[in-house]
Amino acid sequence: MQKELMKNVYLDNAATTKVRPEVVAAMLPFYTESYGNASSLYRFAQEAHKALEDARATVAKCIGAQANEIIFTGGGSEADNMALRGVAKAYAKKGKHMITTAVEHHAVLHTLEGMAKEGKIELTVLPVDEFGQITAQQVAEAIRPDTILVSVIFANNEVGTINPIAEIGAACRAADVLFHTDAVQAVGHVPVDVAEMNIDLLAMAAHKFHGPKGVGALYVRKGVRLPPLITGGGQERGKRAGTENVPGIVGLATALEMQVAHMQEVSQQVQTKRDRLIAGILETISDVKLNGHPTQRLPNNVNVSIRYIEGESILLMLDLNGIAASSGSACTSGSLDPSHVLLAMGLPHEIAHGSLRLTLSEFTTDEEVDYVLEILPEIVKRLRAMSPLYTK
Ligand SMILES: *Cc1c(COP(=O)(O)O)cnc(C)c1O
Repeated sequence: MQKELMKNVYLDNAATTKVRPEVVAAMLPFYTESYGNASSLYRFAQEAHKALEDARATVAKCIGAQANEIIFTGGGSEADNMALRGVAKAYAKKGKHMITTAVEHHAVLHTLEGMAKEGKIELTVLPVDEFGQITAQQVAEAIRPDTILVSVIFANNEVGTINPIAEIGAACRAADVLFHTDAVQAVGHVPVDVAEMNIDLLAMAAHKFHGPKGVGALYVRKGVRLPPLITGGGQERGKRAGTENVPGIVGLATALEMQVAHMQEVSQQVQTKRDRLIAGILETISDVKLNGHPTQRLPNNVNVSIRYIEGESILLMLDLNGIAASSGSACTSGSLDPSHVLLAMGLPHEIAHGSLRLTLSEFTTDEEVDYVLEILPEIVKRLRAMSPLYTK
């Protein structure tokens, strides 16, 4: 394969994204000039305080919420933990039953499984269909008198499948059960409106939409009782202790505002590249299957199973050719367990093992898509030639 090599072809945007230069520029003054503690009362801290509250209003506006319904956190995992552990604590008198799905991110699934093991909750894990989707009817049927929370991932981080969130929200509201959604992959990428969709709690993370790492937010609908997860000082109206990460929060709000302003146009462009990549892979490689929903999927997600070879070997070969991709979820690569998401979708172990995720961004170029379509079939051919499973 003596093709001209490209470098840094980054196709792992579901794991994290590049921070926009404009976002970095918006953050910088809050490190070097207006670095006062946003909770201090003197004038030097006023700019930081104002930036914090402006950011809160911006984030709220982008998801159809009110400013006082936004709590800034240290990322998506923390926001999920705060919602799940908080509801278990605050609503213990009503019951301890929670409902989730088999395809949640580990920030939700491991947290809930841990809570169930400790006896804090009783957990129902709903199965998904072959596309990784659940229905509102499944949720409605699983609700019991002692159910206090339903937690369903908005858009899946591995296969990109988008769940019928508005319908699930309506079902939960009708049954008077709180509804949390891990929207870390959705916010900034597809339209999200917490009021319209009857969402009570929603987690987001800035680094999944070209903002900085280590900062996120939890939307908590007015009227929902939620104790703090991190205790200490009275920041975030007593909901999240710790000196506010003002630069990070400004970065989150700036990035989200930019995403939402151009969402339709950008997602159309990304989707066109995604579809070209999918079509090219299906055309040039035999025994390959697209994972996830064919249409109700994130505009930037490609996930395929390539039979007779290991996802890990494909990743290594792609890496040698300058392409950064992922097999299954980033958190589990490194271990050889097949993805829990693909298994829940009914894929046999050996096929789940050969899965490859390529996630694009608006910074992905047509040349990069061409390059992958040139390199990947050759890699597959080479690996299959060495595979004892491949006998064609
Ligand atoms: C990345 C991700 C998380 C975790 O967010 P962090 O900011 O890394 O803690 C949670 N849920 C989903 C769906 C994700 O994609």
